Amino acid sequence: MVFRRVRDGTASRPETGRVLGVDWGVKETATTTSDAHDLRHPGHGRKAQTKLTRYDRMMARRRPKKGRPASTGYREAKRLRAKAHKKVARQREDTGRKWAKKVVRDHDAIAVEDFRPRFLAKGTMARKAADAAIGATKAALIEMGRKHGRDIRLVHPAHTTMDCAHCDARAKHRLPLGERIYTCTACGNTSPRDKNSAHVMLVRAGLNPAGADGARPPGALLQEAA
Ligand SMILES: [Zn+2]
Repeated sequence: MVFRRVRDGTASRPETGRVLGVDWGVKETATTTSDAHDLRHPGHGRKAQTKLTRYDRMMARRRPKKGRPASTGYREAKRLRAKAHKKVARQREDTGRKWAKKVVRDHDAIAVEDFRPRFLAKGTMARKAADAAIGATKAALIEMGRKHGRDIRLVHPAHTTMDCAHCDARAKHRLPLGERIYTCTACGNTSPRDKNSAHVMLVRAGLNPAGADGARPPGALLQEAA
């Protein structure tokens, strides 16, 4: 299955006639088919990460020997670390909720990359922070969509960075991460890589960016483009 629908609640917001595609990323937490709804990765993650690293080191230095009770210093470092961690989580959720509210207010149907963090255990600090931000933002969007009866469609992420949103051709090779522009060898379409992916989400979910009701199947769009 290409996408799955999040169960609709009762519509509590007026219809907008607009649909949105959402692609998740590291620098931009969300790149969407509408420039006004893109979400940059909020800076508070980084500052807090620096703090967390500092407390981690403090804890490592003060770690009690086996069988010995933890020192006051160790417990204090642990307390500070937990506090800093909680603060970031709260900020993250707050940012996610604010964004989700705006997205849900402005769109009837939203096609979302069904992102599953795979690098949470390993990966760089930036990657971990990005994964956590995406996780919180996606959860907020699903919750907000449900609450207001919006049509949220989770799109399987396979090949979404390789497909052309314009003609549906699939690139033969994965784009290198540094390559920010998607160029289609089949139709010549070039667009910013993440914007292309956001459009692919729409097509995959069966939503037509040009359609007012957002209910036309992807085939209709593809035939028109051909
Ligand atoms: Zn193309």
